[in-house]
Amino acid sequence: MKYDVVVIGSGPAGSVTARFAAEAGAKVLIVERRTEVGVPVLCGEGISQKVDNFKILEGKRWIATKMEGARIFSPNGTHITLSAEFAGSETGYVVYRDIFDQELARGAVKKGAEIMLNTCALDLLKKDGKIKGVRAQHFNEKLEIEADVVVGADGVESRVGKWAGIQTTLKPYDLETCVQYTLTNIEWDSPYCDFFLGKHVAPGGYVWVFPKGKDVANVGIGILASLSESGKALQLLDRFIAARPELKKGEPLRVITGADPVGEPIQSVKDNLLLVGDAARQVDPITGGGLMSSIEAGKYAGETIGKAVEKQKFDQQTLSEYESLWKKAFGKKLHRNYVAKEIMLDMEDKTLDMLADSLKDYKFEEFSTLSIIKALVTKHPSLLMKLTPLMKLARS
Ligand SMILES: Cc1cc2nc3c(=O)[nH]c(=O)nc-3n(C[C@H](O)[C@H](O)[C@H](O)COP(=O)(O)OP(=O)(O)OC[C@H]3O[C@@H](n4cnc5c(N)ncnc54)[C@H](O)[C@@H]3O)c2cc1C
Repeated sequence: MKYDVVVIGSGPAGSVTARFAAEAGAKVLIVERRTEVGVPVLCGEGISQKVDNFKILEGKRWIATKMEGARIFSPNGTHITLSAEFAGSETGYVVYRDIFDQELARGAVKKGAEIMLNTCALDLLKKDGKIKGVRAQHFNEKLEIEADVVVGADGVESRVGKWAGIQTTLKPYDLETCVQYTLTNIEWDSPYCDFFLGKHVAPGGYVWVFPKGKDVANVGIGILASLSESGKALQLLDRFIAARPELKKGEPLRVITGADPVGEPIQSVKDNLLLVGDAARQVDPITGGGLMSSIEAGKYAGETIGKAVEKQKFDQQTLSEYESLWKKAFGKKLHRNYVAKEIMLDMEDKTLDMLADSLKDYKFEEFSTLSIIKALVTKHPSLLMKLTPLMKLARS
């Protein structure tokens, strides 16, 4: 088996990379260990409406609800409201993630990519120390798939980077432990995706309620693994639900557990190997949202690979264009949000209440990190020291 590119993983990062590489003329194979693309769903299913700009999804079957924006609740219940335009990478649409992933994969196939399901990548195929493809298992059959470029789009549990010698270990401090129910029989008829903050609500993370119609919603929690212990996330989520009359009669249609990286991105190109999406930790460290960045990075990866195939140049320098492109597009934002996450982790509940109170009437038409910090510091000069690192990053 010989391809220009083998992509490991058929999540958004893998399918979008495959799509743009195939569109540029590369012979692409996606290998996926699951037996169905996008199943089981491990996601809150929220994504920004900016996904429309990429023109990679046909029809509307993948949309459960179109949202007006987000509400962020501080521990005492004060909330700020953001319109969908400004609400970040997780609010805009709530999607059916299984259909969403399948539509992205279908788009890749339409451009010429092939997919092999029930095919688990086991290791890199190397000759004389050089990466030459992937060893995989398809049902019971062991395969050697040769390729000029290997893409690790194998998600949060990625092993591909490690096989290439990239440091991929996630510290508990940079990992959220998540549990989510899809609840039915609830009365949460809201046009907003809601986020609930507070040390007692979700230490180092938040609870989310993402509506999928008037009586169904994804209700989940993410807490920092370093602040967690066995069963704690589920316990806190159950407590949150039981305390709300609108939710407590809900019954689960689905329950999922998973992990979300919330550290900083890692090296994404090594020789002729690229990491994309969660595998490269291209996730917003504040929200844990990674769908938009996986898609954007996938586009840059696919286009870069397309050019490399055209020139038949597969060295690190040629492929590093991918890293430059995604860093230029959203690298600064991820770093700024990592610093903001550190600052927020340090905040007591009463500080979060004070911030929410200051921002609740803020006009988010002028939304920018710098303008928010200025508004906060004007009202609360005592926050100046705490917010200075963020202010410097916002200015740079
Ligand atoms: C509970 C939870 C809620 C979340 N909610 C949101 C949200 O609302 N919005 C948002 O933007 N983000 C959310 N995220 C994050 C989001 O799900 C990820 O950022 C996104 O899925 C990353 O896409 P990806 O393609 O990089 O990886 P994935 O979607 O994880 O895809 C990786 C694929 O690789 C396959 N694979 C892995 N290893 C191998 C192998 N060895 N061989 C072959 N195939 C392999 C896997 O089976 C999988 O299909 C959430 C995460 C969690 C855990």
